[in-house]
Amino acid sequence: MSREWLMHTYADPPVTFVRGSGSALYDRDGRRYLDFVSGLAVTSLGHAHPAVAAAVAEQAKTLCHVSNLYGNELAPEVAATIDRLIGGGTTHAGGQVFFCNSGAEANECALKLARRWGMGRHVVVSTWGSFHGRTLATLAATGQLAKHEPFVPLPEGFRHVPYDDLAALEHALDDTAVAVLVEPVQGEGGVVVPSSDYLSGVRRLCSERNALLMLDEVQTGLGRTGAWFAFQRHQLQPDVVTMAKALGNGMPVGACWARSEVAAAFRPGDHATTFGGQPLAMAAARATLAVMEAENVCERAVSAGASLRERLGALPGVTGVRGEGLLLAATLRAARAEEVAREALRRGLLVNPVRPDALRFAPSLLVSVAELDECAAILGEALAAVMGDA
Ligand SMILES: *Cc1c(COP(=O)(O)O)cnc(C)c1O
Repeated sequence: MSREWLMHTYADPPVTFVRGSGSALYDRDGRRYLDFVSGLAVTSLGHAHPAVAAAVAEQAKTLCHVSNLYGNELAPEVAATIDRLIGGGTTHAGGQVFFCNSGAEANECALKLARRWGMGRHVVVSTWGSFHGRTLATLAATGQLAKHEPFVPLPEGFRHVPYDDLAALEHALDDTAVAVLVEPVQGEGGVVVPSSDYLSGVRRLCSERNALLMLDEVQTGLGRTGAWFAFQRHQLQPDVVTMAKALGNGMPVGACWARSEVAAAFRPGDHATTFGGQPLAMAAARATLAVMEAENVCERAVSAGASLRERLGALPGVTGVRGEGLLLAATLRAARAEEVAREALRRGLLVNPVRPDALRFAPSLLVSVAELDECAAILGEALAAVMGDA
């Protein structure tokens, strides 16, 4: 089928998939590929997880959508689960959730909530190299000028500081600033892990200046880094947490959580969405979170992440491995990540060249040791093919 009627926002795809199962994807010819991209950290339980598929199929036959004019039984239950996971898994954090359909929408909710809460103070500080979405406001928060340029003027009220730089943040938090929006690990920016005391320093500065700490956990959330949320490795309490990618294991679901005093700034009518929180999406989220808890995905991400890190670090041509849990990037001796990813794809492995000199790995959190071995074997061949032994 020709792609003639699709807007040309994406590069021409190198392969078209028709089916998936666990860590495997299949093209039309039945060829198998090992997926270490997971739809950009979305299918954290692998493709076509039977429990999620059954829940979605059952809900599709029961009730897909009623709008937020009416109640449904699933959204309150999923919100309660998210609040408990924000609290670490066993105790509730004591906040509320707004459901939406994507990461950008989750961040839009956070940005609007900050303005409502700030009552006049409205500047949101975010970091260079960050990624928060492609809507105009989340693009303005995104710290990448090349992505801004074609779309100026952007909404006002955004300020950027270098990532992992507390002095710059302190300087930026003047009395117009209402919030800091920051990723615990920069994902699209190249899997950049800040210093171990950075997030707690951001928390301290936000508290001193009465600004909200809003964590964008769209990529890092829900077990990916080895904790339910990446902030939980730092003993701090955020005011707002956004999530999306893995929440529906492939069904589009986003959520913005805020602690109660902050969430209370929204009154009925302030913010809304047609699809957000609908039964079909919530059935996917409920099943996804239930499987995640039953499978102890946090522990699995820690142990599989350590194994993958070891395998990647031993490959010739790899100069280092960074990241947390199963969100990893391998840096290469030469800026040839795109060629290496292309060679890996030819050999049946999906990896993402997140930077010119770095490959990103975000496999299923249920990945097996055999699949980690297979990834390392294929990647070793691809690296040798592109970089030789020189
Ligand atoms: C992917 C991503 C987003 C945007 O999510 P969409 O669903 O594409 O709108 C926002 N923030 C982070 C950290 C992301 O990784």
